[in-house]
Amino acid sequence: MLTTAHNAIKKAAKSLDLSPEQLEKLLSVEAAHEFDIVLKNGKSYKGFRMQHSSARGPYKGGIRFHPEVDFDEVRALATLMSFKTAAVNIPLGGGKGGVVVDPKALSEAELEELAREYVRHLEKHIGPHKDVPAPDVNTNPKIIDWMVDEYGKLTGDTSRATFTGKSIAQGGSEGRDAATGRGGVIVLKTLLELAAKGEQPDNRIHSDSGASRGNVPFSKGLTYALQGFGNVGAFFAEIAEREHPNWKLAAATDSSGGVLSRSGLSAAELSDWKSNKKRLKDFGTGSQITNEELLALDVDVLILAALGGVVNQSNQAEVKAKYILELANGPVDSTAEEGLASRNVTVVPDILANAGGVIVSYLEWLQNLDNEHWDLDLVNKRLEEYLVPAVKEIAKKSKTDGSTLKEAAFSVAAERIVSAHESKK
Ligand code: NAD
Repeated sequence: MLTTAHNAIKKAAKSLDLSPEQLEKLLSVEAAHEFDIVLKNGKSYKGFRMQHSSARGPYKGGIRFHPEVDFDEVRALATLMSFKTAAVNIPLGGGKGGVVVDPKALSEAELEELAREYVRHLEKHIGPHKDVPAPDVNTNPKIIDWMVDEYGKLTGDTSRATFTGKSIAQGGSEGRDAATGRGGVIVLKTLLELAAKGEQPDNRIHSDSGASRGNVPFSKGLTYALQGFGNVGAFFAEIAEREHPNWKLAAATDSSGGVLSRSGLSAAELSDWKSNKKRLKDFGTGSQITNEELLALDVDVLILAALGGVVNQSNQAEVKAKYILELANGPVDSTAEEGLASRNVTVVPDILANAGGVIVSYLEWLQNLDNEHWDLDLVNKRLEEYLVPAVKEIAKKSKTDGSTLKEAAFSVAAERIVSAHESKK
């Protein structure tokens, strides 16, 4: 993942003609914190916080609890956060944290102790105007609430603006739970509208394009397959079902595999099924498919909302979709990019496709600083106000430069970060 992120930054640096020093600054982290968290029972866990860039604002990024978290992964994710906040032009930088732990093996009391200890190790390095962590894989509002409480006890801070992704009762924002999925819907919708006007680079590829006639590509509807019917994926599918009824969900998977139905699946029914902790592959409708088969389905759009690196050199040639929306971080490996681009598969990059989450985190931070609580309509409206112009700007850059959307997104972001570095000199 670090290689994929660095390759994207190096390409952007080349297109912007940056100096070796400017590139080095984009690749390196400003601070790396690594420590051992020892619980009362004597067990010890490695913790990290990587602070990649504060050039445009406080470091921002989640904390993941996972047995396979490592230094390079956290560093890659911190780097991507700086590029994500810059790509959508919110005044924040990038950071990421992690603890090497299987949280399922911990009791609730141990989990709370781990969360509080993590904050004690980082107290001096975080704060509303320094570094604002959030939940990520295996962390949630409950864990963040413990962290907020611990930070408040240590520092006397009452703003609760040091963390986002809190429960609503503890200062969280309306709409944060659905924001990444909602953002994905907004990004895809905006790109399709641009393609209809000939303003998005790959409009020629759509069978139903009619771009020259000014029709919306896929105006008769589109089909999509979704890998990773978890938090992000399920919100994407449910919002798409309500707001774009002519987007047909043909297949969905979780880690067990999943189901395919050419006549379409109901996202609401799949969510009900999952909320009873059942595996998607056992869902009654349609036929069973594996995760590998899902990637090769003949659908218009492939939505990847599970893991990094799932589309790579070895399987990219199988992809038949015209668009891939990267809702997970880095699901399309850099080794797959050239092959996909040569076949006119549009990859909508993670730093744009899944930026809805960090935008609403930013809105949560603003609400906390101003001691306000906005209603859901206002949060969703402001989310669109950040995301739609970002999509338009990146699509325009891609069209002007003849670059992929990913190259354009990294280039727009790199330019903003470098300009912030220069103005601080
Ligand atoms: P989640 O754990 O709720 O959902 C992940 C889904 O992927 C689950 O359905 C799981 O069964 C499935 N999955 C796991 N392993 C799989 C495999 N090998 N093959 C296929 N499916 C598999 O997590 P989430 O919060 O929905 O996050 C999904 C991705 O989006 C992660 O990569 C995360 O880093 C990224 N992301 C999340 C947010 C956010 O706001 N939650 C923001 C930006 C990016």
